[in-house]
Amino acid sequence: MSPVAESSTVFRSLRGQPAAVEVLSSSLAAGRVPHAYLFVGPDGVGKRTAFLKWSQALLCEAPLSPVMACEECGPCRKAGGGIHPDVFRATFEIQAILLKEPVEKQKSIKIDTVREMEKVLSRKPLEGRVKIALIDPADKLVDAAAHALLKILEEPPPATHLVLLASDQGQMLDTIRSRCQIVRFRPLPSSDLLSVLEDRAARGEPLDRERFADAVRAAEGSVGRALEILSEAESLDFDWEGSPLSELLKWCEQFGNPRLGRDAAEDFLRRLLARFRDEARDGRRPPEDIERALTALTRVRRSVGPSLALQALLLKLRREKKRRI
Ligand SMILES: [Zn+2]
Repeated sequence: MSPVAESSTVFRSLRGQPAAVEVLSSSLAAGRVPHAYLFVGPDGVGKRTAFLKWSQALLCEAPLSPVMACEECGPCRKAGGGIHPDVFRATFEIQAILLKEPVEKQKSIKIDTVREMEKVLSRKPLEGRVKIALIDPADKLVDAAAHALLKILEEPPPATHLVLLASDQGQMLDTIRSRCQIVRFRPLPSSDLLSVLEDRAARGEPLDRERFADAVRAAEGSVGRALEILSEAESLDFDWEGSPLSELLKWCEQFGNPRLGRDAAEDFLRRLLARFRDEARDGRRPPEDIERALTALTRVRRSVGPSLALQALLLKLRREKKRRI
């Protein structure tokens, strides 16, 4: 069968994942959608978007083609918004509601959630022809939940499709993996990642090219990570090279916060390193600065106080810069 043109599928907005789009759209086009998929890939590269789009293609009541949902009918809107009654989502958010617990407490998918999913899957569809279950993250199932899921995969109720999402499939039972068709999601190439960020910016915030380029460099191909970095960047936005010393010291102090300090300091240093490496490539930054930033990162990771480690690094960098001028 010839490949389905990506631009004419419901996945056309999913950037940088041509292989995954090809697998998903060719089985939709052929009308042979497997009972279970396992979407594997790093966080934030489009697995959830792909799931939403794919479920629209299956549930749409006025599809333009088997791979092209209308994206406007009731079922499309509900599927796209994650509220379709024939889609069960075994996620931390839903589990928190089921267990009446805060969402932050959810670190694994538990047996009760899988049992609830089984109940929903065993009923007739309420609106469409099929029922769909999402298990996200499927690499965080407790043992009992994994075995219950395995039973469902071994004998899936009629007209059901399961989609498992995982960033670390090594954490999953082989017997679960082998019953799923695996769809691989890759880190996005920088150009695609930048386009996604620019698209989002075009819808709202003004564009800051340098900041976007920083985020793309540090995000390792993950849209989710890039967005996190951009929002952190706002709070980490500080002219450590030009500010008065007293302000620099005060700014460093905020990393003393025991809960946020270390992560924020690590993020700051990772972005600083990405920038230094870039600058070193065309001679705007001496390679020793990279070593200095790496040493500070190691110190922060080895639980030296992040405020002190940053203070020492930034003061040293300022002194060295003055010396060079
Ligand atoms: Zn539709």
